[in-house]
Amino acid sequence: MEEEPPILDRNAYERLTALERRVLRSPAAIAWMIGAYVGLAVVVMGALFLFGVISPEDVQLKGILVTTAGALFSAACVVMAQLVLRRRLARLNCPNCRTTLARRVADLDEVERARSLSKQVVIAGRCYRAPTSEAVEGPWVRVMKEVWVCEQCRIFVDPLIPLERQCTAEELARLRREA
Ligand SMILES: [Zn+2]
Repeated sequence: MEEEPPILDRNAYERLTALERRVLRSPAAIAWMIGAYVGLAVVVMGALFLFGVISPEDVQLKGILVTTAGALFSAACVVMAQLVLRRRLARLNCPNCRTTLARRVADLDEVERARSLSKQVVIAGRCYRAPTSEAVEGPWVRVMKEVWVCEQCRIFVDPLIPLERQCTAEELARLRREA
């Protein structure tokens, strides 16, 4: 398993939203995201076949084929968009000192926590919930995100990549008492 990066104390760092926008709006990533939406449109078309809205004959097979092809294409485009984004982030330099930014993790802020629809518990500024992937063991995970930082200049970019981190034994004990 990949080693977990250190946790960033965001209060000591300044967020560079302009640099973030430049990274997120990379033409390659945008092109792959457009591909993902095209794939979704194909899924919808396949569903129309499937439910006989477009063609009453031979609908099942056509519908299933078109829906599957659209879903696979869309998923592949999302994966490619993420790869492009990660490659850019891994090579990103600090605008002040030109050193390559380092990957860290950070807790969610209040606004981000409010956006979540799933049940969550907040203890000491940390947000916990049941894991959404099987890669991390439950019953609780610490909900965080990946950020890229320059420690020398105290700046970071936050490309909105969620991350679930395994709870420590102390965190689990506290959750059992307080959640
Ligand atoms: Zn720097």
